[in-house]
Amino acid sequence: MMYDVIIMGAGPAGLTAAIYTSRAWLKTLVLESALVGGNAAIADKIDNYPGFPFGILGGELMDNFRKQAERFGTEIRMEEVTSIANLPEGKQVVTTEGEYLTRAVIIATGAQRRELGVDGEQEFLGRGVSYCATCDGAFFRNYPVAVVGGGESALKEALYLADIASQVYLIHRREEFRASPDSVDKIMKNDKIKCKLNRVIKRIEGDTVMRSVVLQDVKSDQEEVLEVEGLFVSIGLVADADFTDGLSTRDGYIVTDDEMQTSVEGIFAAGDIRAKRTRQIASAVGDGAQAGMAVTEYLKE
Ligand code: NAP
Repeated sequence: MMYDVIIMGAGPAGLTAAIYTSRAWLKTLVLESALVGGNAAIADKIDNYPGFPFGILGGELMDNFRKQAERFGTEIRMEEVTSIANLPEGKQVVTTEGEYLTRAVIIATGAQRRELGVDGEQEFLGRGVSYCATCDGAFFRNYPVAVVGGGESALKEALYLADIASQVYLIHRREEFRASPDSVDKIMKNDKIKCKLNRVIKRIEGDTVMRSVVLQDVKSDQEEVLEVEGLFVSIGLVADADFTDGLSTRDGYIVTDDEMQTSVEGIFAAGDIRAKRTRQIASAVGDGAQAGMAVTEYLKE
């Protein structure tokens, strides 16, 4: 079957693009390999997405995106894309489940969480080490935990965990946080959160599960053992480079023009996978709307 557009990724950008293309009566298929809603769906409360004056849970917001896209006829399938090829009859998208033909593609696969790359991180993954407080935080009720990172995500994770854990250590490699003043203020005022600034994690230690992290002071080189049962790694994002072959990229992220067109005709990119400075739900939505409209124009020509 020939689709007008296949959208890879059902996060904020992909689902917004789908709302626009479906409303333009384009036959739209969204392919998602992990979770409809993407990273936004596992966010706790989202306070800066307009339209929700008292905030909204990430899962609830993304469920609304999905329902809105489906109301206009978007088809969503849980399949992992393995390759895209240009054939004379259209673009071929191969997934773990089958093959599809489409006239245009929007890549909205987002970005992945960056790993720390220290000893113990892989060994204790799922046995103390986690990348998602809203997913795994409940396992650490009344236990001490640590969060590493100094951006908005790390501070949000620490605040979320402060309601669950007995103590939260926030480990950051610098003195200044990257997060919003509002989040920094909340961290400073929270008695359960103790900041460990100018510290890096040297290694994660334990037995059958993790028991501690070894910190190093970046100024004095002095080491310190922090006894925690959990470590939440929240040190930013890296591009998902799986589908960038043949596309122009910067630092692994896909370069587009203002219309979200990549360097290959008929392939568009939107959201966190795109080379840009801002990675917010609101900006992903803007990208998705633009990509949806650009594809509609492209297919008319
Ligand atoms: P980020 O803003 O890139 O921050 C990453 C943090 O991790 C930085 O503080 C960085 O330290 C630290 N870091 C990076 N590599 C490290 C390493 N190897 N070891 C130790 N620390 C390391 O990432 P993010 O917090 O995940 O946010 C990603 C994007 O999503 C941002 O644009 C953010 O604004 C957005 N976001 C928005 C919200 C919201 O509600 N508005 C929520 C979450 C995320 P340095 O500061 O020293 O570089």
